[in-house]
Amino acid sequence: MDKVSPMMKHYLQTKAENPDCILFYRLGDFYEMFFDDALTVSREMELTLTGKACGMDKRAPMCGVPFHAADSYLNRLVKKGYKVAICEQVEDPKTAKGIVKRDIIRIVTPGTNIDQGSLEESRNNYIMSLVYFDNRTGIAISDVSTGDFYLTEVDRLKSVMDEISKYSPTEIICNDAFMVSGINIEDLRGRLGICLNTLDAHYFDEELAGRTIMDQFKVGSLTGLGISDFPTGIIAAGALLRYLEDMARSDLSNIGHITPYLAYKYMLLDSSTRRNLELTETMRDKSKRGSLLWVLDRTKTAMGARMLRRFIEQPLIDIDEMKARQSAIEALMNNAICRDEIREYLAPVYDLERIMSRISYKTANPRDLLSFRNSISMLPAIKIALEDTKGCAELERLSGEIDVLNDICDLIGSAIVDEPPLAIKDGGIIRDGYNNDIDSYRQAAVNGKEWLARLEEETRQSTGIKNLRIKYSNVFGYAFEVTNSNKDLVPDHFVRKQTLTNCERYTTQELKELEDTILGAKEKLNGLEYELFCDVRDRVEAEMSRIQKTAKAIALLDVYASLSYVAEKEHYVKPLLSENGIINIKEGRHPVIERMMDRTDLFISNDTYLDDNKHMISIITGPNMAGKSTYMRQTALIVLMAQIGSFVPASSAEIGIVDRIFTRVGASDDLGSGQSTFMVEMNEVANILRNASSKSLLILDEIGRGTSTYDGLSIAWAVIEHIANKKLLGAKTLFATHYHELTELEGKIDSVSNYCIAVKEKGDDIVFLRKIIKGGADKSYGIQVAKLAGIPAMVTDRARQICDELAKSDITLKVKEISAQDGPKGRKPKPKHYDAVDLGQMSLFESTTDEDVIEELKSIDISNLTPLDALNTLYKLQNDLKNRWKA
Ligand code: ADP
Ligand code: MG
Repeated sequence: MDKVSPMMKHYLQTKAENPDCILFYRLGDFYEMFFDDALTVSREMELTLTGKACGMDKRAPMCGVPFHAADSYLNRLVKKGYKVAICEQVEDPKTAKGIVKRDIIRIVTPGTNIDQGSLEESRNNYIMSLVYFDNRTGIAISDVSTGDFYLTEVDRLKSVMDEISKYSPTEIICNDAFMVSGINIEDLRGRLGICLNTLDAHYFDEELAGRTIMDQFKVGSLTGLGISDFPTGIIAAGALLRYLEDMARSDLSNIGHITPYLAYKYMLLDSSTRRNLELTETMRDKSKRGSLLWVLDRTKTAMGARMLRRFIEQPLIDIDEMKARQSAIEALMNNAICRDEIREYLAPVYDLERIMSRISYKTANPRDLLSFRNSISMLPAIKIALEDTKGCAELERLSGEIDVLNDICDLIGSAIVDEPPLAIKDGGIIRDGYNNDIDSYRQAAVNGKEWLARLEEETRQSTGIKNLRIKYSNVFGYAFEVTNSNKDLVPDHFVRKQTLTNCERYTTQELKELEDTILGAKEKLNGLEYELFCDVRDRVEAEMSRIQKTAKAIALLDVYASLSYVAEKEHYVKPLLSENGIINIKEGRHPVIERMMDRTDLFISNDTYLDDNKHMISIITGPNMAGKSTYMRQTALIVLMAQIGSFVPASSAEIGIVDRIFTRVGASDDLGSGQSTFMVEMNEVANILRNASSKSLLILDEIGRGTSTYDGLSIAWAVIEHIANKKLLGAKTLFATHYHELTELEGKIDSVSNYCIAVKEKGDDIVFLRKIIKGGADKSYGIQVAKLAGIPAMVTDRARQICDELAKSDITLKVKEISAQDGPKGRKPKPKHYDAVDLGQMSLFESTTDEDVIEELKSIDISNLTPLDALNTLYKLQNDLKNRWKA
């Protein structure tokens, strides 16, 4: 170690203090990385790996990025989940004695990055702090780039997952206990790509947490913040604040409010329901296009876009809050001209929240301040336009929250020029007349030009060089330029400074003095401009809470205007909200599928009626592709939209509000993760049966499909019996199934009704009518659908033949037998024959021999088998054997 150079010693020490970070170590014009960091970064960023001699036996592996391009490398590394610590020179290398002093100025992590270029405008970048303690989990969430800070506490792991999927944080910090709480950490890190790390125990000190929070929010007690009911949440919040401070190495002035909430005060949506309903992104390619957010988002500002996303991610359960939102949307509908005017005024409004964060982190530049001013200069017009919607309490409340910020507008307007540069240290920022010193320095610069012109003219006269000129360059300063042809005329007291191709440049004592005066003034001017700019920035920062409040009001207004605009364009209606448990939708439509169609009238509307009694459960049958899934999702989406406060795609709607929506989509419809899809399906059904209440809405799409016909049918059957039982659950349910045998439940259970999606048979073909009608389908039309899909006639004809054979001993007969018995304890159907149209089970009719099975076993290419294939293959082989013994 003794041989190691002093710089490397400091490097190793700094690295040891931050072992989990990649260290960007400033050397001259580069940030350099060494050892493992160098290996990692050169691999991830495709940079050349070099080495540096540093007194050790071997050269240290090294790679570097130029400091002016560092941001893009840094952002890319952070996006990949790395933490990057920036170690900067903190004294001027020119004046430093010995080795330049260096220090970490900030650490950038996925959840603490505020760089504009790396953040998605319409999306919050959340960091979450989770503290597991005594079977409870305290949760604190923040978006550093906007200053949002929330806190809650939950008592079940399932709810922790629900909160995680609601916020989709990019980073999680937690205590050690959380790692063994039973949460699937690998899933969070792997599938969800969250950067998850534990922090040292001292972060989770209860007393310190309380003090940190009181300091941050400048209060004398926690009670005033309304958070004293969340003891574990407080620890999470304290840890998060300290972590954020440690990363930013500065105070967090943009985090001025803490918003406690109770998870159950919003509609709870689990992650698979969010995914299935495609609320903010599609299942297939995770794109916004094709999601509910895509349909509803006509916001004009980034703040509005983020708020709308939050609306969709957490629908309400408080009917008064929903009605308040409705009233605002309606008032803006009734005054569309004024709404459209407001939307025009909103269009040029910048992301005030994120600019404020940059202001508080002192990274905002003069152009940020100018866009800030241009944005807030729209506020008076917006406020005046809002007056035309008088009479709506919610909009009046909003208008009251909007502060037009005249003083700040004037301050920036008087201080900053109209087209300022990006750089903050090169001057050209402050407007004439704002400050006397600035004006006089500028005057000196102007005078300097005159002095120079005079000197140029005098020197021409005295030397007789007609084309002599005074030139300026950044490196050499001012000089007399003399072309080569006039070199002989140059007097002796001229000192040569620079030689160019066609000329020489000289200076003189007099010119040097003039240069010092002019450049000195320039230097002072730049310094003062920088100081004044920082002062203006700090004065804006001092108004943080007024500005943030206004920004939130503007965001909300933008959301209301967007929802109102969409409602008008897409012909939505205001739903009648109630707590009587009745859902009565007339001519409902699927908001997304309708938008995806070339012509909206191509979508066939349908009614939905559900209540807590006779119409609690609808069993929906109909062939594949008839529109079952679409119909059920449309109902779920309409209910959800109503509980956001939005209008809905229907001709009329009465929505008895629900506490939760659950959806489960059958195995083969789901493009889920790598697990056995049947297992996933059953997990989710288990979750629904355990967590749903009589106020929930259940959407069950083809459950029981991932297993054999008999198993599947039996499970589906028993699940419906369970849901229908008011003592056990009694929840409103739409249940789509291709087991038309389930229609037997109507009449048997009071609350079950049969519906089917009509098709018209034309000989051997079918036409989809997409209309839901009373009654059950008596067939599955699988063969007709197969034909539509282009299966060759030879195959479908043969299938028809087999089907007719099978029908002679139809499963339905058996099912009728069971339904004649009592309740779920009735005898289980024994497998004898298979569903008439289940083409998957055809092996029954081939004469399988043991050898066939053995041959098939031998031929399996195990290395290319997915777990699901393996399960299916095993199932088929076992069936082959079983059937052979039966035959
Ligand atoms: P199922 O679940 O019965 O197999 P889907 O709900 O998946 O059928 O619908 C299949 C396709 O039919 C959808 O992708 C959509 O394009 C179309 N579709 C469904 N419902 C309607 C409707 N009401 N109007 C127009 N097209 C519809
Ligand atoms: Mg379907």
